[in-house]
Amino acid sequence: MTTRASVRAGPADRKAKRKGTTGPARRKRTSRSQIAEKRRARVILRRLAKEFPDAKCALEYETPHQLLVATILSAQCTDVRVNLVTSGLFRKYPDVAAFAHADPAELEQDVKSTGFFRNKARAIREMSRDILAEHAGEVPRTMEDLIALRGVGRKTANVVLGNAFGVPGLVVDTHVTRLANRMGFTRQRNAEKIERELMEIFPRDWWTLSSHLLILHGRKTCAARRARCEECVVQDRCPSAGKV
Ligand code: SF4
Repeated sequence: MTTRASVRAGPADRKAKRKGTTGPARRKRTSRSQIAEKRRARVILRRLAKEFPDAKCALEYETPHQLLVATILSAQCTDVRVNLVTSGLFRKYPDVAAFAHADPAELEQDVKSTGFFRNKARAIREMSRDILAEHAGEVPRTMEDLIALRGVGRKTANVVLGNAFGVPGLVVDTHVTRLANRMGFTRQRNAEKIERELMEIFPRDWWTLSSHLLILHGRKTCAARRARCEECVVQDRCPSAGKV
């Protein structure tokens, strides 16, 4: 039974009531701002898509496993350098088993020029061994299974889901982190939290492409050291325009 005491407004409710933000009106306001943010995101993404009509994964690969290897190698390394290394690497190690059984020291030398080569060579061998042992040599197609592989985190998993399997995946790297903050879509610095917030705002069928677009825009216009806001195609929709 509802008692008089149980329906009495608490301090938070009284404060909200003074501000006029209780009940349906408060919910309406929240959803209105979410709709506005989604609309703003769509405008920004469409303009960036127009600026970068050829945006796609810059890593070269022919199989999902090759994309996994290339993505592991791309940490702290340019895509151009990774592509140079993988062109020979994929000839030398033609399949999952070849990477899984690679000589550790030899594989380290093969990927040395991409930096952090010991960790990367180990991650590639362990990931390949897991795929052989747990998935009969086939790269799994779910986030859960991908991040269960040794050496594979959410970022790598999203690259593979989005680009090799066509499953929308939002990759959050340093460019996406910087731009999502400057554009006011998040205040987070943690990649997983940013990914979740952007997933709420960006249309699902744009998730994969949006990462490519933000990365390209971050390299060309909204660089870490200096943002060229005067040349930016989304400056009228960006709260940081002229401030960074
Ligand atoms: S307006 Fe400036 S800060 Fe905003 S996205 Fe463009 S370049 Fe970056």
